[in-house]
Amino acid sequence: MEHAPKAVQTLQSALEAVDELDLLSTTADLDRFSRDAYDYSPVLEEQFGSCRAQLVVRPHTVAAVMAVASACAQASVPLTLRGAGTGNYGQCVPLQGGVVMLMGELRAVRALDPTTGVVEVECGCLLKDLDRELASQGRQLRLMPSTWRSASVGGFIAGGSGGIGSVRWGFLRDPGHLLGLEMVTLEPKPRLLQLDASDAEALNHAYGTNGIITALTLSSAPRVDWQEVCVDCSDWRTAVTLMQRCQQAAVELFLCTLLDQAIVAGLPPWSGPATATHRLLLLVSPDGVSTVERLASTVGGTMRCLGAETSRQGNGLRELSWNHTTLHMRQQDSAWTYLQMLLPQPEQPVLEALSKDWGDDLLWHLEGVRHAGAARLAAIPLVRWRSQDALERLINQCRSLGAVIFNPHVITVEDGGLGIIDGDQVAAKQRHDPGGLLNPGKLKGWTS
Ligand SMILES: Cc1cc2nc3c(=O)[nH]c(=O)nc-3n(C[C@H](O)[C@H](O)[C@H](O)COP(=O)(O)OP(=O)(O)OC[C@H]3O[C@@H](n4cnc5c(N)ncnc54)[C@H](O)[C@@H]3O)c2cc1C
Repeated sequence: MEHAPKAVQTLQSALEAVDELDLLSTTADLDRFSRDAYDYSPVLEEQFGSCRAQLVVRPHTVAAVMAVASACAQASVPLTLRGAGTGNYGQCVPLQGGVVMLMGELRAVRALDPTTGVVEVECGCLLKDLDRELASQGRQLRLMPSTWRSASVGGFIAGGSGGIGSVRWGFLRDPGHLLGLEMVTLEPKPRLLQLDASDAEALNHAYGTNGIITALTLSSAPRVDWQEVCVDCSDWRTAVTLMQRCQQAAVELFLCTLLDQAIVAGLPPWSGPATATHRLLLLVSPDGVSTVERLASTVGGTMRCLGAETSRQGNGLRELSWNHTTLHMRQQDSAWTYLQMLLPQPEQPVLEALSKDWGDDLLWHLEGVRHAGAARLAAIPLVRWRSQDALERLINQCRSLGAVIFNPHVITVEDGGLGIIDGDQVAAKQRHDPGGLLNPGKLKGWTS
């Protein structure tokens, strides 16, 4: 849908006078900055295909962000924020056209407390750059998506949920990760607000619908020299048991991924030998390697320690985990799509029941996570696309077996989460974006 073209033209003329602001309006730019990785979902591909920004802006300062916010509020033109544009649910696709604002030039690490490891960073900083900066003080990120090399920290908080590190640190919305935010309101006279941890929660995973984040205060973790370890198992049940034993052992893990053998066979050549076995991928602290080796040998698994992650250039086990698995499989065959769920306990009967009914159309990819403080298994299975009807049947069956689905084939914050409207998110939108112009159509609680 296109927003009133005249209003956008007037807005563009007004923005030409703003310092430290780039305006981009070529067709190529409008196309490029109106997409993300939603094409992993055939359902979303159909819905987002025709959505396009009418103007793209790139501020270099917070003052320029405020000028854009003011101009959009005065002209009643929708404004959608974009970090690196790696989201999977079209989070930064401008459903109603208008302006897309690229946040990538705000990327300074403003402060890093060497004692606590608490860091204040601007929204557009790439996670890889932030992690490098933390490393200089003996710290590291607690959580990151498998897109950590290209994704921004603001986009991760506003659009992501967890990933590498979730086996130890749970998910982004768990209290303790996000300690505060600096944000700009969308009003004719925008306000620059400093939110404490409680008020910041409403903007955490709200798809940029209820405030423009300009900087974040985050906790970090002491740096560990993670070792890359793979264990191959010929039997799936054994592999799941080993995965759970590793999660429950007194070893420090940063990643605990299990891939079905059909997925292992579809991984890129740099990922290791193609064996006809299921593969457990671990990032483990140096003092935990011998314990993993002992646990693996008790179940007859074949372990390989690839050495320290830091000794490797380029892609590593991180790029075989979380949604990168889907990426690699789709590069082989774009008929693969995926689902995301928290498995009920005990997990094995559910996995077996679903495999029995869906056969080769469902390939298991499990991730060890900490959920509400407990060690659990999440699943990001590859699903062969047949039809929307088949996908819905699968989702319903997973739910009926007790899985909690985080549906990656829907548009709104609520439908992709627990399906519940979060009153705090809606109230924050009322306070910060009274005209409902930020990323319209993505917050169900506001629309309804
Ligand atoms: C192969 C692949 C693997 C992935 N793996 C993971 C994973 O492991 N875990 C995970 O959580 N996600 C994952 N993702 C999704 C995505 O890469 C991450 O969530 C990433 O952190 C998003 O960051 P981004 O900078 O690309 O954000 P964008 O996609 O640009 O934006 C995401 C959302 O944040 C909003 N936003 C951006 N900047 C701001 C701001 N300054 N203020 C307010 N709102 C803002 C946008 O409007 C949008 O709604 C994966 C995606 C792909 C394609």
